[in-house]
Amino acid sequence: MKTVIILLMLQISVLTFGQSEKIGDELYLYSDKNSSQPNCTAEEIKFDPAIHENISGPLNMGGPSYDWPLKAALNEGLVIVNYVDDLAGGSIKDYNDNDWSYNGHNGTDICLHDFRNMDRFYAIKAAESGVVIQTVMNNFDRNTGWSNVDPANKILIKHDDGSYAYYYHLMKKSVTVKLGEYVQKGRIIGYVGSSGVSTDAHLHFESGYFVNGTWNKRDPWQGDYNHLPSQWADQEAYVGNTAFKLHDMGVFTSSLIGGDMDNIPISYFKERIFTPNTVSGYEGRIGFWLQLQGNNTGKQIRYEIRRSDGSLFDDTYFYLNSQAQFAWSWWTPTFNVGIGTTGDWYVRVLYDNVEKGRYFFDVQLLTSNRPRMYPVAAKCFRRSIFVQRDTLRVRPVRANMQYQLVNAPPNVSLTNDSILTISTFDQPFRSYDFKVIGSMGGSASLRDTMLYKLIDTTKNHSSGNGIVSLELKSYLEGRYNGSSMEEDTITVLLRSPLSPYALVDYDKVLTLSNGTCIANFPNASSGIYYYILIRHRNSIETWAKTVQQFQLGYPLSYNFTTSKTKAYGDNLKLKGGEYCIYSGDVNQDGAVDVTDVSMVDNDISIFVQGYEVTDLDGDNFVDASDQAIADNNSFNFVVKIRP
Ligand SMILES: [Zn+2]
Repeated sequence: MKTVIILLMLQISVLTFGQSEKIGDELYLYSDKNSSQPNCTAEEIKFDPAIHENISGPLNMGGPSYDWPLKAALNEGLVIVNYVDDLAGGSIKDYNDNDWSYNGHNGTDICLHDFRNMDRFYAIKAAESGVVIQTVMNNFDRNTGWSNVDPANKILIKHDDGSYAYYYHLMKKSVTVKLGEYVQKGRIIGYVGSSGVSTDAHLHFESGYFVNGTWNKRDPWQGDYNHLPSQWADQEAYVGNTAFKLHDMGVFTSSLIGGDMDNIPISYFKERIFTPNTVSGYEGRIGFWLQLQGNNTGKQIRYEIRRSDGSLFDDTYFYLNSQAQFAWSWWTPTFNVGIGTTGDWYVRVLYDNVEKGRYFFDVQLLTSNRPRMYPVAAKCFRRSIFVQRDTLRVRPVRANMQYQLVNAPPNVSLTNDSILTISTFDQPFRSYDFKVIGSMGGSASLRDTMLYKLIDTTKNHSSGNGIVSLELKSYLEGRYNGSSMEEDTITVLLRSPLSPYALVDYDKVLTLSNGTCIANFPNASSGIYYYILIRHRNSIETWAKTVQQFQLGYPLSYNFTTSKTKAYGDNLKLKGGEYCIYSGDVNQDGAVDVTDVSMVDNDISIFVQGYEVTDLDGDNFVDASDQAIADNNSFNFVVKIRP
């Protein structure tokens, strides 16, 4: 008999906290509670760690008093998988003189069981009141690994006593607070995701403070190893060495995991494999999975498959060989019971010879000619800003197949016998489940059902959080070389459509080398028209030609590069086939003129280098190429044009 038993431990990490010097790298704001009204023209909207000083310090008896940072309680689908590593160097000490952490870990990792739970939205709450100092919200949020991933979505809050808390790995576009805003303890600030260096959906909560601009973690947990006062208002009990617990279990067939029982990616389990309604007695092998917890090295885990009459069909066992707060195990034994007993079979799971769980599955005499479809488990279609369609090969194994889509959104179709096509979504929601039923000649018994999930990561976490998003494309003349652009931050503003065009909201974002960015506007409303305008530190302020309207739950797209008429007053410059925002307004007075040219000239004469406002082409040297841009636009009297 061929079996596979695999046990994999959960790993969770977080990026280090070194602050990049590059101004365009991330979006930061320094603000304090007493002057939190954001100034939209300020170019110093930048988080500078040097101005964050140690005010409370690690021994301050005041300090923050954290509430549990999630809406759900610890026993409601959440697992603490790592505490803070309080020991410098190569060893691990958690606050309780144990090792429930990994080396160098500065926070507390609170994990969801799987991505289907993430799709149900686990709210993160401000553990302590304070000012929002930093938000990042646009990165992909379903990572299952540590390499080649975008940065984490995160929030940094500064508390009244001068201490700080980071909330890491949030779901894309789920941040519900705004830079500079003062949030009260208990307010929902975002949703749990798996953005950044993260293997599972989890919140990395990290307390600390700055000393001369350098981040210092502060373990909020008090115990046998960390004697500092607890920073929790009501510290949860230590979860290291907890008793064995079977969190979840299930049954799957070959088709649900893509047809290869011997090579199942762990990401399939993290997506949580769907359980079939019925298992054919002719399945060659079937699979069982467990999600378990416990510090129980040397203890036995036993699987038993029992027929509907209770008799033992097959069993196996293994021994736990390390600690785990969270681990997956699966077993894929030979099945093929043919015309044996039908009805409610079940798998029993025993820990140390004590039954811990039982999972029933319905076995029926489905014919061996039953059709099969082979997508991957819990296949997720993902839409990003530039990929608006996806296809999936259903791959029937029989001729004369008929397909039926159940509960599918309008833009999902089976375009021929085996290709399921997902075109541009029009659902307003982030996730959506539907089924494909394949049958031979429409037979009710000769059929197979697959479940699919659409995940549209460009969508806000729900239709009701009030944030509207703008997918914007623009090129900055100086930084665009005809094929790509030197990345930089721009400020995207929304203004009312009528004079005096009051400011409604703004977002400072990094615009990528392909000219794209995503701006989020918590203060804007769907169904209302706004002017969109762009500011950049040495470019001409540029307004969109006409007002634009956001629709509930949908991102709005606007592209300045396709025609000069995209800008108010046709105020764009053609360069390399693309329409660009004029560069050269170094002093931001709304015109490129001799003043700007002389500023560039002056910096050339003293050989200025680096990220300077007079460096129009972004090559970190102020030189003749910058002078040429400013000269040309000054000669042509380039000025801001606005309603
Ligand atoms: Zn962590």
